Amino acid sequence: MNVLVINAGSSSLKYQLMNPETGDVSAKGLCERIYIDGRLTHKVGDNKVVKDIPMPSHSEAIQAVLEILVDPEYGVIKSTDEIDAVGHRVLHGGMEFSESCIIDDEVIKAIEKCIPLGPLHNPANLMGIRACQAVMPKTPQVAVFDTAFHMTMPPKAYRYAIPTEYFENDDIRRYGFHGTSHKYIARRAAELYGSKEFKLVNCHLGNGSSLSAVKDGKCQDTSMGLSPLAGVPMGTRSGDIDACVVQFICNKYGMTVDECLNMLNKKSGVLALSETSSDFRDLEAGEAKGDENCVLALQKFFYEVAKYIGAYAAALNGIDMLTFTAGVGENGPDTRAAICEYLGFMGVKIDPEKNNVRGKEALISTPDSKVQVWVIPTNEELMIAQDTAELVSAAK
Ligand code: ADP
Repeated sequence: MNVLVINAGSSSLKYQLMNPETGDVSAKGLCERIYIDGRLTHKVGDNKVVKDIPMPSHSEAIQAVLEILVDPEYGVIKSTDEIDAVGHRVLHGGMEFSESCIIDDEVIKAIEKCIPLGPLHNPANLMGIRACQAVMPKTPQVAVFDTAFHMTMPPKAYRYAIPTEYFENDDIRRYGFHGTSHKYIARRAAELYGSKEFKLVNCHLGNGSSLSAVKDGKCQDTSMGLSPLAGVPMGTRSGDIDACVVQFICNKYGMTVDECLNMLNKKSGVLALSETSSDFRDLEAGEAKGDENCVLALQKFFYEVAKYIGAYAAALNGIDMLTFTAGVGENGPDTRAAICEYLGFMGVKIDPEKNNVRGKEALISTPDSKVQVWVIPTNEELMIAQDTAELVSAAK
């Protein structure tokens, strides 16, 4: 089976053509500068081709992707009929979606209904869906939501302690994100643990970071909220913050709430504290040179991640496994070691040699650690492709 996985942003569109059974990726790439001019970067194995192609809308971008996939020189399939299904990443499923689903008119309406909750991403995701429907009307399309995995949270985790009317009238609650990644890791962790019944904290630490508390495969809590701004400090996001900070800054500097939120989303986090970079490699380089701001940024990050793990260990009444994934989680032995240093009180012990691993699945805890600690590379595209294949096969 060939599944085309699409992740449409406001001016970009990432794609992968993959086999959901084996995880083999036959081609992948990126359309950039949609609405501006348009550039396609297409990769097959180690071969890469970059083409300037006019992309006045997402529709031309999808068209360019389909054309290059069947191109005699750069393509990997003979005809677009060989694409069995398309899986779309959709950011916000609101209260409407607790799992992935085959796209029909009702689903499109429900995704539209979630636009106020995901104003930046849902319209772009919808453009990607509509563009695919237009150019390949007979191919089944599936929506996979970033929020869906977290819909098993109980009300005590997802409700904000604010007047009920905002929940009842406006669906204001904690949703959480990176759900496709958390789901992928929870499934793989269950295979590694050898049982579905176990308690896990997963740390998805990348440019955006979130943690989830998972019991028996079901999410019980997660660190992001109504939007991806909440939780631990990230590359450029502040993470959790007292709402009065917004009031103070808006009043004193004559900023609008939107301007202030833009600052909290794009100019904060470890970028702000380090005054250097949002990239953890740069922070580690700064730390090595004794840059105090880089040291503070890293320490703040380790501290806040460790606090969330401690909180989730309490919420789950102890954990069996702790997993690290995404760019920093997979490639940052020093980050993992610094976080785990806080967790000795709960019997977490990592082996420095085993922890010296990058981008590979590995058990990094010692045999006598009370909690198994694993590095598990995430694969959101594969999760999207698998959900898509499952739904499409079941519908046949
Ligand atoms: P995104 O949230 O954009 O998907 P990623 O999961 O790709 O982000 O993570 C990006 C982060 O991973 C960057 O901060 C980068 O510094 C970090 N990273 C990638 N490789 C390494 C590495 N070898 N060592 C430390 N950090 C790394």
